[in-house]
Amino acid sequence: MLWPSLIRSLFRRPLSEPAPSPAEATVTALAERLEAAAQVRLGRSLAIRHVDSGSCNGCELEVNALSGVVYDLERFGLRFVASPRHADVLLVTGPACHNMAEAMQRAFLCTPDPKWVVAVGDCALDGGVFRDSYAVAGGVDRVLPVDLVIPGCPPSPAMLLEGLLSLLAVQEEAGEDEVPGN
Ligand code: SF4
Repeated sequence: MLWPSLIRSLFRRPLSEPAPSPAEATVTALAERLEAAAQVRLGRSLAIRHVDSGSCNGCELEVNALSGVVYDLERFGLRFVASPRHADVLLVTGPACHNMAEAMQRAFLCTPDPKWVVAVGDCALDGGVFRDSYAVAGGVDRVLPVDLVIPGCPPSPAMLLEGLLSLLAVQEEAGEDEVPGN
């Protein structure tokens, strides 16, 4: 019978995890990286384009978990999009492989300004376990200007969510500071 489970679900608390609080130091550092006018233009929601620059797919598993019921990314106004042309954020996983450098740069150029680049995982930070490979240039910052790094191998969905929420927190602070009409 469907009815008993429907009635039970009305009184159960949601399965979703509560939102983690972004670290104050992270928010402050991000605020310094983007001029206030640009932050306001981005608004209070963000479209994210995921770019795999050569990862082992471990980071992707955690990124995918963000869209499930437990972390439920969309409740915060964050959503994944299929094209960098529709994105505010490039979320890059994996080390910067030489073979992917041109594709990464093209994705970056296609993303309209203002935009954030978020490097996810230890590989995106400095090459990680692939650092000494002939196929790898190093971290994502060897190819793209990185605004935020979320370290870990792989970082948990909670860490990813915290990092992404810090981008929104920066924008909200900038929006409050903005005087209408200026
Ligand atoms: S950080 Fe770890 S999980 Fe992520 S791509 Fe590198 S090796 Fe894989």
